[in-house]
Amino acid sequence: MTQVVRTDSSTSKNDCQPKGKLIVVTGPSGVGKGTILARLLERHPELYRSTSVTTRSPRQEEIHGKDYYFVSRNQFEQMIARGELLEWAEFAGNYYGTPREPVEKQISLGKCILMEIELQGARQIYQTFPTALRIFILPPSLEVLEQRLRDRAQDSPEAIARRLRRAEEELKAASEFDFQITNDHIETALNQLEAILF
Ligand code: 5GP
Repeated sequence: MTQVVRTDSSTSKNDCQPKGKLIVVTGPSGVGKGTILARLLERHPELYRSTSVTTRSPRQEEIHGKDYYFVSRNQFEQMIARGELLEWAEFAGNYYGTPREPVEKQISLGKCILMEIELQGARQIYQTFPTALRIFILPPSLEVLEQRLRDRAQDSPEAIARRLRRAEEELKAASEFDFQITNDHIETALNQLEAILF
């Protein structure tokens, strides 16, 4: 059964209303964060989704500037050095980071900003923006997660193994987040996320 757990009872239910609210969505690779957020944006086009920078190679259907900005390691390291990233992390052999400028602009415009990032990045954001709303998406089980990673056939067996090792670490941190949603059924998880945000 898909489940939502509210970790901190002091968190307001209307967190998406204040201006410039950051919503951080974290959870192990393959858990379905991307699909849930894509569906949420279809329902709520007024939300702004941050586009990350990565050194990972594009997957077949991915578009530069839409799914990610794909850059070299050298370019990424220059962005770090110039302070252009709000947060960044190394994940399964690649760098991932959030460009600072677009997020700051959307905050100044009073938009709600969605960030789909892994655990280290989520922790960095919490340091900078302690009022960010943090949501953790859980798989029904590690076995289901492994099956989803295999079924989506986007990564090599070695990359899947790295992602699963990382998933076990990330899952231990789920209780740091304001809300936990178990993604057993996408529609139910989406409805639960919507109920948290609006
Ligand atoms: P993937 O390679 O599957 O697209 O992403 C791998 C992991 O990196 C996912 O958990 C995803 O949420 C995370 N990720 C994507 N963009 C960012 C980012 O800008 N910063 C951080 N810290 N993690 C990110």
